[in-house]
Amino acid sequence: MTTLFISDLHLDANRPEIGEQFLQFLQGEAAGADALYILGDLFESWVGDDDPNPHYAIMKAAIRKLVDAGVPVFFMHGNRDFMIGERFAEETGVTLLDDPVCIEIHGQKVLLSHGDALCIDDQQYQQVRLMTRNPKWQAMMRAKPLEERIAFAEQARKQSKEYMDSVGEDIMDVNQDAVVGTFRKRGVDILLHGHTHRPAIHDVDLKDRIAKRIVLGDWYDHGSVVRWDGNGPRLEAMPRS
Ligand code: MN
Repeated sequence: MTTLFISDLHLDANRPEIGEQFLQFLQGEAAGADALYILGDLFESWVGDDDPNPHYAIMKAAIRKLVDAGVPVFFMHGNRDFMIGERFAEETGVTLLDDPVCIEIHGQKVLLSHGDALCIDDQQYQQVRLMTRNPKWQAMMRAKPLEERIAFAEQARKQSKEYMDSVGEDIMDVNQDAVVGTFRKRGVDILLHGHTHRPAIHDVDLKDRIAKRIVLGDWYDHGSVVRWDGNGPRLEAMPRS
């Protein structure tokens, strides 16, 4: 049996082809899986579980259907959908995961993370991350009217795009010292994350051993998935049908 891992779909009504592929994935391959792990940035933005966004409602219902069919679905926050809360979890039936979290799969310990916490070269981003993950800041945001939150998210996305266009590519990748430190601190040999949109499997030399860092890709041009069965993990692209 296979456990599936995905991240960085950035679902948005403006990119209906991604939503369509996600729905097919849920009804097809995922329905036959052991479990599905979504490692953040499933949605392009999330202003609160009370958002009646019809595109997101379709996606939520499809996840619910998968869970009801008996496939456990685990969800970790990304830097776009970090405002997903308990109500979303109740509606969809997903289990919310901390970032990072260690799981065991086919006898192997694996550390799961969205990945943005490893991108410490980008100090400006890390400041924003610290602020927006603060429960007090989130409570302050949730208290605002929906329209205000939607406008805020729109503005934040615009600023983030301008910022990303202005800084170099490298700053938006993981920091090697942070990666090595994470492996040592957590005592694992495999780290699986998304966020950077640079799908690859990297060997990481820890001197006493070689660890593996598996990076999921985004779904902009095609799907990206890690399929993990008794033979180990496979990082694969999923063409759009
Ligand atoms: Mn991300």
